[in-house]
Amino acid sequence: MQQILTEALAVAAPRRAEGKVADYIPALARVSPDRLGIAFAGADGVVHGAGDCDEPFSIQSISKIFMLALALERVGVDLWRRVGREPSGGAFNSIVQLESEQGIPRNPLINPGAIVVTDALIGEQGSADAAIEALLALLRAQSGDPSVAVDEEVAASESETGARNRSLAWFMKNFGNLANPVEIAVGAYFRQCAVAMSCRQLARAGRFLAFDGRNPETGEVVCPPHRARRINSVMMLCGHYDNSGEFAFRVGLPGKSGVGGGILAIAPGHGALAAWSPALNDSGTSAAGAAALEAVVDRTGWSVFF
Ligand code: GLU
Repeated sequence: MQQILTEALAVAAPRRAEGKVADYIPALARVSPDRLGIAFAGADGVVHGAGDCDEPFSIQSISKIFMLALALERVGVDLWRRVGREPSGGAFNSIVQLESEQGIPRNPLINPGAIVVTDALIGEQGSADAAIEALLALLRAQSGDPSVAVDEEVAASESETGARNRSLAWFMKNFGNLANPVEIAVGAYFRQCAVAMSCRQLARAGRFLAFDGRNPETGEVVCPPHRARRINSVMMLCGHYDNSGEFAFRVGLPGKSGVGGGILAIAPGHGALAAWSPALNDSGTSAAGAAALEAVVDRTGWSVFF
């Protein structure tokens, strides 16, 4: 595995030049586009890593997966009354569909869908801090690292430039699809996106999705098997916005991108992969990160379509 990861990075390295680091959140624009790392966490607890796999980065939209798991635990299938599960075919922050679809976001992984999920986890008149603490507790427990935390500078930077996300939230408020005040919901959303983790931590944290919702080391049930299956299916179809088809075509694993350059990919029955390289393609997926994952799948045959 170690050799496969090292070789995958060698294949992916030239692709860093294809992308552009996200600059609409100023704190992200400062990260070097040269960074490239990958890690794999399997059932036995050994985490293999290569390149910059120990450097923390902003997980951004990868947080939406963990928030979805927590919100489904809290409100159950009623969540699907407030958010759909179809690919959007649009950008992560698009507002156009929201109007024609009456304030019900297409899926939980585009920004409006994720804001609804966060709102549901907070609950009516609930606490945004408690929702973020629940996220951190999950990430710390599954990664086995109690130091996982929110990078408050990134959160502040995102809030300062968050007019678009606030617009999405106000729009949904108008349609009655937001229980909490806009600032409470987006405040929590900005903080979840600003969690900083390394590839190694992230691969371990997402591993339960590869094993029917169970932590394969401890046997702990993080979520029931049917829920893990559904989260994986949403990741496959919606995890990369209007680039989801391309990612399925090339990598063939449920995955979620973040504009910090991270990608979490789930290889059912095998484990979780996390890749990171900050330069993004036009849809906000890490160009070199996706190439590294494609190289791993080419060697392991882990695509779910084989
Ligand atoms: N925090 C980012 C935003 O709301 C998340 C987008 C992403 O990571 O894809 O713009």
